[in-house]
Amino acid sequence: MSSSQRFRFLCVIDFEATCDDYNVNHGDQLQEIIEFPAVLLDTEVLKVVDTFQVFIKPEVEPILTDFCKNLTGITQDQIDNGINLLDAMKRFDDWLHVTHGVISTGLERNFAIATDGPWDIKNMLFNDCKRKNILDYFHDVKYYSEWVNVRRMYKSEYGRAGGITSQLQGLNMTFEGKEHCGLDDAKNIARIVIKMITDGKVFKLNDRLRGKKKEK
Ligand code: AMP
Ligand code: MG
Ligand code: MG
Repeated sequence: MSSSQRFRFLCVIDFEATCDDYNVNHGDQLQEIIEFPAVLLDTEVLKVVDTFQVFIKPEVEPILTDFCKNLTGITQDQIDNGINLLDAMKRFDDWLHVTHGVISTGLERNFAIATDGPWDIKNMLFNDCKRKNILDYFHDVKYYSEWVNVRRMYKSEYGRAGGITSQLQGLNMTFEGKEHCGLDDAKNIARIVIKMITDGKVFKLNDRLRGKKKEK
């Protein structure tokens, strides 16, 4: 069943960003990414190949709010020792291509990004890159222009989809780790993907930066 997957590798990412309790969840133009985590999943053997995590120092508000620290579990120390967003994206790209040898462009492409909903790429990463004047890099690497929207796929397959916890519940699983820790969120999204592949679902690109979605 799993051999029918379009992509041999799916890389789940789930950004955490600066926030306060007046923020209404995702999409706030003022949010800056502070955690860049990733879970590389082999869709053939249904196993996590490796995980990635770097912390990013925000430029506008370098001091995290207590709300943000409590929500994400990220410490001020981790942020103070963080790198900038462009270096984080380059390190991620090296990890994908140099360490793991994924192919991300062209006909032999064997990899796609997967996220819980559209926000991580469409709002958080795009807006943060725009503000930091690094959209050229964002576009150059190609793999951020179309991705696997797991929540949308879950909804079309099972008829409803809430957050990660409720998606897990629908599959008779519970959240492992700390909710809103980016790496734990990504690991749990990966568990949802593994279960859906086991159930025979085939993951395709179903979300993109602009225009209508189309499945590929
Ligand atoms: P998540 O992937 O659900 O952990 O959310 C990503 C980011 O959205 C967080 O790092 C926060 O910046 C923001 N966020 C999520 N939930 C909340 C919330 N309840 N209140 C304020 N901001 C939130
Ligand atoms: Mg998220
Ligand atoms: Mg998260």
